[in-house]
Amino acid sequence: MQNRPFTIDVPKLRPGANSFRFHMGSVFFRQVEHSLIQRADVAVEASIDRQPALLDARIALEGNIELVCDRCLQPYPKAIVARHRIVYSYDAPDEQPEAATDDELVFISRNLQTLDMSQDLYDLVSLQVPLRKAPCDEDNTLCLADEQVRNLLDAPAGDTSADPRWDALNKLKDN
Ligand SMILES: [Zn+2]
Repeated sequence: MQNRPFTIDVPKLRPGANSFRFHMGSVFFRQVEHSLIQRADVAVEASIDRQPALLDARIALEGNIELVCDRCLQPYPKAIVARHRIVYSYDAPDEQPEAATDDELVFISRNLQTLDMSQDLYDLVSLQVPLRKAPCDEDNTLCLADEQVRNLLDAPAGDTSADPRWDALNKLKDN
């Protein structure tokens, strides 16, 4: 991952809870190699509890991602809401602080100055992508074959934050 916009300045964390807000938009996802997601508008709220031996991160994601239907190859928006906890622990060998990581427990160095959450946040959003992406299996109006909507989706690339196009897409999905 080359772009790493979601970072925490560790020395500035106060003991106890610290709150952060991030926005994950299309620009971020498009810069990830082999990204499953090309267009997105996801708000992230992270509460990081600084304790002597660890940083306890509670993460809430909410927003929209655009997926492509496996069946008809039309794009469609998917609303996502997810909560996750990652414990960044100092209790690990200094030689390979990232050697023993999983979804819940990540070992970090005592010397870490910048906690980079970019990969973890990308992974959490990617977990919301279903294995089978075919909303038209159940309702063939859910995939966006409509010419007008396709035109909207093909508009020049840009960040979708506060982009009224998402509202149009969501209305379509709700109908
Ligand atoms: Zn479809």
